[in-house]
Amino acid sequence: MTDKNNVETLALTKGGSCPTCQNPSTPHYRPFCSKRCADLDLGTWLNEGYRIESEEESDLDEYEPG
Ligand SMILES: [Zn+2]
Repeated sequence: MTDKNNVETLALTKGGSCPTCQNPSTPHYRPFCSKRCADLDLGTWLNEGYRIESEEESDLDEYEPG
């Protein structure tokens, strides 16, 4: 039983810290510490992708004749 606990602690240490908030990451939401942080990271990715797409769209808009 103690061994299992040890492994969990090891995983926590080995997992490092959450890329979103720097808190210790949990094995369940690795590499994040919680679902919230995982969602946040995903949101950032989506946002960035959308921004680039949006910029391109803006460029296309200028191409089209009025
Ligand atoms: Zn976090």
